Amino acid sequence: MRRLFYLSILFLITCTPKVKEKEVTQRPNILFIMTDDHAKKAMSIYDNSLIKTPNLDRIGNEGIVFNRSYVTNSICGPSRAVFLTGKYSHINGFLDNSSRFDGSQMTYPKILRQYGYYTSVIGKWHLKSVPQGFDYWNVLIGQGQYYNPSLVNMGDTIQHIGYATNIITDLAIEALENRIPKDQPFCLMVQQKAPHRNWMPDTTHLTGEQVYPLPDNFYDKYENRTAAAEQDLSIDRMFMSLDMKLDPERVIETGSGGAPKKSDVAAGWKRNLNRMNKQQRKAWDKYYMPISDDFFSKGLSGKELVEWKYQRYMNDYLKCIQSVDENVGRLLDYLEEKGLLDNTLIVYTSDQGFYLGEHGWYDKRFMYEESFGMPMVMRYPKLIKPGTVNNDLVLNLDFAPTIMELLNIETNEPFQGKSLVPIMAGEKVKEWRDGIYYHYYEYPHGWHKVKRHYGVRTNRYKLIHFYNDIDQWELFDLENDPSEMNNIYDKADPELIANLKTLLKKLQKEYGDTISD
Ligand code: CA
Repeated sequence: MRRLFYLSILFLITCTPKVKEKEVTQRPNILFIMTDDHAKKAMSIYDNSLIKTPNLDRIGNEGIVFNRSYVTNSICGPSRAVFLTGKYSHINGFLDNSSRFDGSQMTYPKILRQYGYYTSVIGKWHLKSVPQGFDYWNVLIGQGQYYNPSLVNMGDTIQHIGYATNIITDLAIEALENRIPKDQPFCLMVQQKAPHRNWMPDTTHLTGEQVYPLPDNFYDKYENRTAAAEQDLSIDRMFMSLDMKLDPERVIETGSGGAPKKSDVAAGWKRNLNRMNKQQRKAWDKYYMPISDDFFSKGLSGKELVEWKYQRYMNDYLKCIQSVDENVGRLLDYLEEKGLLDNTLIVYTSDQGFYLGEHGWYDKRFMYEESFGMPMVMRYPKLIKPGTVNNDLVLNLDFAPTIMELLNIETNEPFQGKSLVPIMAGEKVKEWRDGIYYHYYEYPHGWHKVKRHYGVRTNRYKLIHFYNDIDQWELFDLENDPSEMNNIYDKADPELIANLKTLLKKLQKEYGDTISD
């Protein structure tokens, strides 16, 4: 009992805010907006060839855009756990989507709460355990639904009518308006389901199919890359029902969809559509039935069929992003109207990137650039000069320690990332990092058959080791081969490989990763 008493005292001392209440109220708010599976290529500040995203771009244009922002493990739950804990998957325990987040561990919102912040998370949580460290949480169940989703409000499940991206934004604005005390700084996490598979757009965006260019490496033959050849995330194998959204009464499912086991996907698609109310379904069918009629009349095969699938996929995916952009605009407008815009650090990012036809794929998982990288822009004019562009190698791992430094919070928590504050301030940081370390675990279980791998990326090179039921190294020269088509591991200078392996081992040791091989 005495020990418990001393521990409690120690806890109180450790947790006592080190600043006066008056100072606390002048600290910046944090609005952390995260989407699910947003490829950089689908945000016009990075690439304006596919879509215009003026509201997302505004954050970067009036703040900083990170051109080289990456995740440590490219899959939904694990990336979220890294953002929250500032620690690699092997430390925070959330290795893959079959994991369950240990909510008792330290997270940055928990620390902020100790320092007088009102913390909340709204939208997609996807960590299985009940959110901890939040004054208010209102989250989707699992992956959630695009139409008429149910959210769990502090334990009470409530079904909402409408489209998920709009509803999550409505709840965020409602929290800002009515829940968050006006005399308390806030940390509000707005986490959208969109644009996660199966990419169901809002009925307001069902206005005509566009034609998008095929990526140069759409017909990749995966030479010298065994893991890339043996995956199941090819657009060619997408579900004809759930992904392509063909009429459930007529479709014959021929896709594998990357599913770990066979199930009646067409029936699942029907249930999905049946969530809609009459008005939603009418608008939906008005758009998608002619697409089905056209498809069934054509009898496509071969290249024509796979390219038709690509166009269908891109149309739905990008329409989902259009909703994200509009809703981020609503949030920015609200902050502006209330005079909160300039005292709030606004972050827009995604839990990882996504393939938009590169290598013939959708989905994520691989350490290749499209899914390894994610968009990240921030706005906070008190620190960040508008128009700042950064090319350093930064990680989702860096977010928690960044918040600590930004708020001048001294903590003993062993965060593994580096604070981005000097970069945000526009300082040229001499010794930033030599390379970034990555590790993906979801194999042989789980979706899409992407083999386990770890690796290191430097400014110019990327070295990957695929292991488990395979033992293959890949090396890419990103300067000469940005699409990562040419594995030069067998012909590269042995000294280059030795140096990269030394760096890899150094990082594994530094981060305490002993799970490899
Ligand atoms: Ca994701």
